Amino acid sequence: MVRAPRGALVGTVLSGVALALVAPSPAEAAVVDSSPRTAAPRPAVVERVVIGHSRKGREILAFRLGDPDAKRSAVVIAAMHGDERKPQAILRNLRDGAPITGLDLWVIPSANPDGVARKARRNARGVDLNRNFPRRWKRSKRGPTWSGPSAASEPETKAMMRFLRKVQPDQVVSFHQPLYGIDTSGTGNRPLARRLAKHLRLPKRTFSCGSGCHGTMSQWFNHRLDGQLVTVELGRRPTKAYLTRTAPRGLLKALGGRRPVPSTI
Ligand SMILES: [Zn+2]
Repeated sequence: MVRAPRGALVGTVLSGVALALVAPSPAEAAVVDSSPRTAAPRPAVVERVVIGHSRKGREILAFRLGDPDAKRSAVVIAAMHGDERKPQAILRNLRDGAPITGLDLWVIPSANPDGVARKARRNARGVDLNRNFPRRWKRSKRGPTWSGPSAASEPETKAMMRFLRKVQPDQVVSFHQPLYGIDTSGTGNRPLARRLAKHLRLPKRTFSCGSGCHGTMSQWFNHRLDGQLVTVELGRRPTKAYLTRTAPRGLLKALGGRRPVPSTI
């Protein structure tokens, strides 16, 4: 697999869909403007990209942090299930904190923005996005884990696939809740899973998706691309200290990045 060049993604075309660098939305700009003392409100962010849109037309955003020329690269994803939102705080802490070095890091805080808006697991069509990927996809009944009418039928799934194919990250972490552990199934207990368990202070476990995993993002990524994807399940109620201090620091350490200046966020 040939790694895509590490240049900016601005203006590049992914499978016919343009990734565009965009200005902050009015809501986000308002947040940024609330801190007038800071000349660069998000000094860690070097690029902001709309990787696609949800079924209801909401933007799916990726923020590039750190050093685009670093040897190691990583993508961290949260809220693929819209009712599992606590891990978003970890990604926002990294995005809004001090600059990151030693790692080309992308964070996608809201992989399922329609689900997040409704505080619901599935997307606006009722599809469980983590059963919709085209690897061992299986038709299932409508319900909490509906896999959709066909593999990769959903715009959110397609956006994530395009983005991961383009970026070709060495490491991917996908955050969920509330099963509490690092999923070692399918990873062969590889180094990334071990480092995540150590630095995020979570047990290594094997999750079976209930009746067996079909069409998950980790199955697709780990079969089709060169990097490693590890699913991390936080507990139901992680503490604020864990989400804003322990986990961001631990995650960076596990992925090979550093944040030299302690963040005040
Ligand atoms: Zn989940």
